[in-house]
Amino acid sequence: MLDYRLSDETEALRKTVQEFAREVIAPQIGEFYERDEFPTQIVRQMGELGLFGLPFPEEYGGGGGTYFDLCVVLEELARVDSSMAITVEAGVSLGAMPIYRFGSEEQKQEWLPRLCSGEILGAFGLTEPGGGSDAGATRTTARLEDGHWVINGSKAFITNSGTDLTGLVTVTAVTGTRPDGGKEISAIIVPSGTPGFTVGQRYSKVGWNASDTRELSFDDCRVPEENLGARGRGYAQFLSILDEGRIAISALSVGLAQGCVDESVKYAAQREAFGQPIGRNQAVQFMIADMEVRASTARLAYYRAAEKMLRGEPFKREASIAKLYSSEVAMDNARYATQVHGGYGFMNEFPVGRFYRDAKILEIGEGTSEVQRMLIARDLGVG
Ligand SMILES: Cc1cc2nc3c(=O)[nH]c(=O)nc-3n(C[C@H](O)[C@H](O)[C@H](O)COP(=O)(O)OP(=O)(O)OC[C@H]3O[C@@H](n4cnc5c(N)ncnc54)[C@H](O)[C@@H]3O)c2cc1C
Repeated sequence: MLDYRLSDETEALRKTVQEFAREVIAPQIGEFYERDEFPTQIVRQMGELGLFGLPFPEEYGGGGGTYFDLCVVLEELARVDSSMAITVEAGVSLGAMPIYRFGSEEQKQEWLPRLCSGEILGAFGLTEPGGGSDAGATRTTARLEDGHWVINGSKAFITNSGTDLTGLVTVTAVTGTRPDGGKEISAIIVPSGTPGFTVGQRYSKVGWNASDTRELSFDDCRVPEENLGARGRGYAQFLSILDEGRIAISALSVGLAQGCVDESVKYAAQREAFGQPIGRNQAVQFMIADMEVRASTARLAYYRAAEKMLRGEPFKREASIAKLYSSEVAMDNARYATQVHGGYGFMNEFPVGRFYRDAKILEIGEGTSEVQRMLIARDLGVG
């Protein structure tokens, strides 16, 4: 049966997060954004709300919800601010999820309760300075020595990797050669503060300025042998984490696209030109109507992908479709929302300026639009 209504529990969660985003995040995030500062206190409050544990079982300190609940939360956060939305997305979907899905029981017991409560944040290190789309080209290495993995190499653009709350980063590294001659890539947990693990300065970014993104380097960094996930499975594991992550990024994109509608509806009613509100002009009405059409259809795309995932059906194609479509929708809506705001759209005091700067990365992170098109075509058997 087709039913895309939210359950009572998910709707209650959505409303709680909507209220939190409007009352706690909205009034202060602009200043953090302009100062390029990570708002540790807001992130702690999101932890107290249980947002970092949403899709994990209660036995590990999680909320016992679903991945779809996480997506609905990300949408509501991004409707107000994408920096906080990506902080939750990266903490849950990229930081904690690999440990939950692929970690040993000991690793889950050790890390998940603190990750779920938001006491610590996790990060995910796949991309390297030499390349992100070609994730198999990993150059970081780890060699086994006296019961320890000795890691050397570097990672680029890693979200949540250098905050006051960061507790660990899971990185991919080449741990050997496969029987077919290819690279054996494994995932290794590196706790923050491990000697030889250096976290670089925050990048100066175009958008997501209140989120934390850094370069990491590993110089004979030693972690215990048991910090490794299943040897040689790291590449496949990280790719499967990215398949799910695309649904989350789609939800975040829909939130940004919907936030553009919210702000434009408000502004069109209050701004006057030629003696009447600008919203009386059909040209402005059409821009806003088209924004709403795009946000609504993009939402259906991520609901569809999440539905397939929760049913346990193959969902890669739907996840790529949702990510590709909704990130392009977010870009379009940010452009039109800025247009509706005229000169004020270009001023930092209005949220749409932030939306405009935050939208572009959605077409790049967790697989560029070109990578999504490649995946969709491949799934269709083309090429
Ligand atoms: C703010 C931010 C946060 C991020 N957070 C994380 C994180 O937490 N963890 C992490 O691991 N990574 C993270 N990333 C990295 C991100 O996932 C990569 O930037 C992205 O995957 C693209 O990789 P790249 O930058 O190396 O671009 P490249 O792979 O160099 O691509 C450059 C261009 O070439 C195109 N291209 C490449 N190959 C092909 C091809 N075969 N066919 C057609 N076109 C192609 C791409 O689509 C793109 O347009 C983050 C990035 C940013 C900017």
